Amino acid sequence: MDTVSVLRCEDYNLPDVLRIVRQSFDNIGGVGKFIKPGDKVLLKLNLIMKKNPANAATTHPVFAEALSLAVMEAGAAVIIADSPGGPYNEAMLRSVYTGCGIADVAQRLGIALNYDTAYSRVDFPDGRQVKSFPIINPVLNADVVISVPKLKTHMMTFYSGAVKNMFGCIPGLYKAEYHFSMPERERFCAMLVDLCQCVRPTLSFMDAIVGMEGQGPTGGTPRKFGAVLASASPYALDLVAARMVGITPQEAPTIAESQMRSLCTELSLAGDPLDGLLVSDLIKPPIGTPDFFDRRFIPKPVSAWLRRSLAPKPDFNYGICVGCGDCVRSCPTNALHLKYKRPVLASEKCISCFCCQELCPAKAIQARRNRLIGRM
Ligand code: SF4
Ligand code: SF4
Repeated sequence: MDTVSVLRCEDYNLPDVLRIVRQSFDNIGGVGKFIKPGDKVLLKLNLIMKKNPANAATTHPVFAEALSLAVMEAGAAVIIADSPGGPYNEAMLRSVYTGCGIADVAQRLGIALNYDTAYSRVDFPDGRQVKSFPIINPVLNADVVISVPKLKTHMMTFYSGAVKNMFGCIPGLYKAEYHFSMPERERFCAMLVDLCQCVRPTLSFMDAIVGMEGQGPTGGTPRKFGAVLASASPYALDLVAARMVGITPQEAPTIAESQMRSLCTELSLAGDPLDGLLVSDLIKPPIGTPDFFDRRFIPKPVSAWLRRSLAPKPDFNYGICVGCGDCVRSCPTNALHLKYKRPVLASEKCISCFCCQELCPAKAIQARRNRLIGRM
């Protein structure tokens, strides 16, 4: 049986967050069950892009600090790593660590930030979608990997949590290849479950103090959820976190896939009652398509084409676009180009992955629903 610790946490006050992180460890069996003195413990934060922590797109530095302190108290060494969106090089990492407030934490605690951009190919013959993955070396060199996601909505996977956070173990632009080769979100999410099974993080600690709703994982709105979740099972944690904010397994394919594979059959809750933390009015990502595409009389290829054609597409607010071209560089299908410093979409090439929106520094991209479906 998987235990998921859920504890109320009102804000990013370091002494409070540290107390709650320690309590979370106790709730799931004690820190000594997972971490031994001398271990090298990798915190795989969610540092999707250079964003001020107030935007709630990235793991909050106070949460990273509290978790680092708790791990160091167990006698282990901490290293922080992620492969953000875009190119994976030292300059990019430095800019992301600094912009997300993580560099200050590392300096204060004397912990290591990863700048090793090498990776190794790891075979995973049991994978349902993918049989091997390129994995960044710090993940492979750690004794213990802790996934440290943020609770967010996501324009492609609907929900972003502990399993989705593992996508940052894939180096840089390799991520675009996965989007390109698996444009359907069910297949993409099945790949994410393969990846999580391949890396097998020892623990997951979720920063759900302030998360994101709407057009996540970077273009949405910060939303206070007031909780810290922890578990040895990323699948159980995601199931509980999604339930807390009113997202069903049918909406979140990573959760549906993990249930289909029986990766989360029984769980127990420890800590504060979930009832007091339930969110009933989450603004969900506008990515659904009408259920008549699922009807049996529509052949699968037609249904797939309809879904692709009618899926939301990116829409650009040229009034706030700064013409940086990050959206063009992040697009896995070359569906975008810059004309007079403005991004232009070739709609027929777009697979609605919203990598462009994820990496837009100006929040100038929103989802636009097909007119046949109706307004968002
Ligand atoms: S235009 Fe945006 S949503 Fe469409 S394929 Fe490119 S990155 Fe994905
Ligand atoms: S990433 Fe955003 S700001 Fe940069 S060109 Fe694209 S839409 Fe404009």
